[in-house]
Amino acid sequence: MIIETQAITLDENNTDCATKVEILCPQCSRDVDEFELAAQKCSDCGADLSDPTQHVAVAVTSVPLFGITF
Ligand SMILES: [Zn+2]
Repeated sequence: MIIETQAITLDENNTDCATKVEILCPQCSRDVDEFELAAQKCSDCGADLSDPTQHVAVAVTSVPLFGITF
């Protein structure tokens, strides 16, 4: 499962970067989905997912975001 967060403009000088968090089973390294995460159990190998492996990547965006409505 990949959780993406959008870049958030805190104020005119500070922008919280968009990130991508990939959640993997610590035992078989398979991508787990939200149901497995909710159950805290990998349906493939049965590993406990209460502390899953998380790969965090900061999305580098050079393209400004348009069309943000408040
Ligand atoms: Zn697993």
